[in-house]
Amino acid sequence: MYDKDNIFAKIIRGDAPSTQIYADDYAIAFQNIAPRAKTHVLVIPRGEYTDIYDFTANAPADAQTGFWNAVRKTVEKLGIENNFRAVANTGAGAGQSVFHFHVHIMSDERFKTDF
Ligand code: 5GP
Repeated sequence: MYDKDNIFAKIIRGDAPSTQIYADDYAIAFQNIAPRAKTHVLVIPRGEYTDIYDFTANAPADAQTGFWNAVRKTVEKLGIENNFRAVANTGAGAGQSVFHFHVHIMSDERFKTDF
């Protein structure tokens, strides 16, 4: 069940601040407030989906294409096309703490391994 008061929903609405990297009609990318790599950005769709499973099962095709295009554009903007990880924690047991679908984009020679 999607909670409209989760922190990423507030960022989308402009009710909470973020350091934005990229935004378009489908997605927003912003810096992680607690980075665990030199570059640690979160990309989120504007639509209300709890996780990658919900998003890929239920988002319309244009929203899915738009989202992954935004991921690519974010990576290009960061200039890390050949050196990054993309992670989508799914479920509390896997470490998900914000239940609005998001992809972690991380780039660092000192990658943490506990994501
Ligand atoms: P998860 O654990 O759900 O995969 O990732 C959620 C991420 O959101 C965490 O890495 C956490 O640091 C980040 N985060 C939590 N609250 C905020 C916030 O208010 N602003 C930003 N920019 N990131 C947040």
